[in-house]
Amino acid sequence: MKENVVIIGGGIAGMQAARELLLLGYNPMIVEQQDHLGGHVSRWHRLFPDLSSAQDLVRRLGEEISEANIFLETKVSYINRLSGGYLVMLTNGVSIPTKAILVASGFRLFDASRKEEYGYGVYDHVITNADLEAWFGGAPDSRIPSSPRSIGFVHCVGSRDLKAGNSQCSKVCCMTAVKQAIELKERFPDARVYCFYMDLRLFGKKYEDFYINAQEQWEVNFIRGRVSEVGETQDGQLQVKAEDTLVGKPLKLRLDLLVLMSGMLCNPDAAAIARMARLDVDSDGFLKSLDNLGGTTRSSRPGIFYAGACTGTKTVPEALAEARSAALDIHRYLQEA
Ligand code: SF4
Repeated sequence: MKENVVIIGGGIAGMQAARELLLLGYNPMIVEQQDHLGGHVSRWHRLFPDLSSAQDLVRRLGEEISEANIFLETKVSYINRLSGGYLVMLTNGVSIPTKAILVASGFRLFDASRKEEYGYGVYDHVITNADLEAWFGGAPDSRIPSSPRSIGFVHCVGSRDLKAGNSQCSKVCCMTAVKQAIELKERFPDARVYCFYMDLRLFGKKYEDFYINAQEQWEVNFIRGRVSEVGETQDGQLQVKAEDTLVGKPLKLRLDLLVLMSGMLCNPDAAAIARMARLDVDSDGFLKSLDNLGGTTRSSRPGIFYAGACTGTKTVPEALAEARSAALDIHRYLQEA
């Protein structure tokens, strides 16, 4: 009989790990609280830097794990330590004995309405990166004007912000802003697009090319400075106050649309799993890996492993690579157990 491996979370990291574990001869069992697999990526439209389809990635992974056991709309209710393993109890009444658990519970996006100065949920034309991505994917959104003439992006919303309780960089939102700015210019070539940033953190393969292309081909304006206040004029436009810190001058701009780049925080469900399984939580609120060099997929508990954004912000390729690595670590662990 094939050995069970319980995977908590059916986002792309959990799906990729399930694929690898199936190939290695195990019985992966995915527990996912949503009614579908794919996590945040299932609600995304295109992925940087090559603008490939997020839906295609989720579809392909879904096809590759058609033989895995998948429990949708289900959570873990309890994890009991047994001799040599665990008993994982689910909210649907199923109990699974296993020697290995993979936590792939992902992240949540910062709630942009907590940054009151940006007016999300107050002004008609303020949206988030996730709202814009859903609109790119075909979801209607009345907050997005039919022909905007000026559009702004605010970087670091809920990231690198002690007041918001998160001092960490979310790593992906600079590049997401560059991608979304280009996509808006594709649709609205006459619109002026501004990105307000603290620093630009573009570290991956081809990211710099993408950024240069945004400036040179698409004429996106990158302004170094924080937006301090957003208001609304009588004719319904947004009025944005900021400071261009490179030239040391205050700025006032009228915009038709403002996009807030909400950062990534640890999924609160990871904290619940941590309490059940007595896992360590790091100072940034994410789960704590055994170490941050060679042991990112390992916890301090025997047989419990990590993949994806439950331990920190990750790009899509990083989450997939870590899931493959975690599957191999689990295989090695079970061979030696
Ligand atoms: S990736 Fe960019 S926008 Fe996101 S938190 Fe880091 S510096 Fe800010």
